[in-house]
Amino acid sequence: MSVSDTGKQIASAIVTKAIFSNPTVLLVGLIISIIFLIIMLIAVAASALNPNQQNEEGTSYSIIYGPLDRDKIDSILKESGVFDGKTDVFIETAKRHNIDPVLLIAIALHETGYGTSNAVIKKNNPGGIMMPPSYSELRAYPSLDAGIEDMAKNLYDNYIAIGLVTIPQIGTKYAPIGADNDPTGSNANWVPSITNIATQLGGLTINYFGDGKWIVPVPKPFTLSSDYGWRDFGGGEFHNGIDIPKPAGTPIVAASSGKVVVAVKSGEGGGFGLHVVIEHSGGVYSLYGHMSSVKVNVGDTVQTGQQIGAVGNTGRSTGNHLHFQINLNSIYQNHTDPKPYIGL
Ligand SMILES: [Zn+2]
Repeated sequence: MSVSDTGKQIASAIVTKAIFSNPTVLLVGLIISIIFLIIMLIAVAASALNPNQQNEEGTSYSIIYGPLDRDKIDSILKESGVFDGKTDVFIETAKRHNIDPVLLIAIALHETGYGTSNAVIKKNNPGGIMMPPSYSELRAYPSLDAGIEDMAKNLYDNYIAIGLVTIPQIGTKYAPIGADNDPTGSNANWVPSITNIATQLGGLTINYFGDGKWIVPVPKPFTLSSDYGWRDFGGGEFHNGIDIPKPAGTPIVAASSGKVVVAVKSGEGGGFGLHVVIEHSGGVYSLYGHMSSVKVNVGDTVQTGQQIGAVGNTGRSTGNHLHFQINLNSIYQNHTDPKPYIGL
């Protein structure tokens, strides 16, 4: 037995003696212990019942991404009031407006209490869209399909098209925290709720990668005329990016936010013709080649979805297309397959 152990034993004996020799102290101690235990149990239960707690702190969003799961969407809409049977309407309307069907459906479910609110039942308004010019009354639509149509158009025009593409980005404008028209503070729940519903629907399906801040830099629909890699077997050349054909003048947007480090506005540009390179976080560079015009300057900060130029046929090119390339830790060298970055 060490000196230290002996000391502890003596101290323990003194405390034990003090407590047991005084019933009042014993009782008060017991009550304090029970109250403490109850508070701990309530705290544990509350955190278990609130899976959004992590999200509300604004640090971590666990969004999943995957292929469109029509059956999963269908089964959820079946239990969602007036939205029963509207799977195809949502998917087709979203695709026509270049937005993610899962995002559109998640917002509609959240805004209407899963298809049961007065706004959606009486006014066919699934998106909480207000009537101009006062914006104090909900807009009414002749049919639910018309309401879904206007909601999708509004989501594209006022959010996606101006670079608000992730759920947290959209939330800053759709449901701003601390807004005057949100006295109960329910807007704080918007981003976690949309995230959870989107996950239940099978995950977001388009335009997202990694931290959710990368998008395809030209409008949908599109095809690839040339993939990343060897163009053909034996003696062929390696293609350092992907080619996306589009008519001349089609807007090209920043695939992710960053700083413009190259903006070549005339000449051959080493084969890329008129082109732009954007530096992103983590040493990632995105290159946009063969433009007909360049709309940014070196040093500009650009946001995801912001127009940086237009499709053209400049430099070493045989037709109007975007050459899109990703380089790592280098402006022009060390290319890698760009497709995973933009969710392809
Ligand atoms: Zn190319």
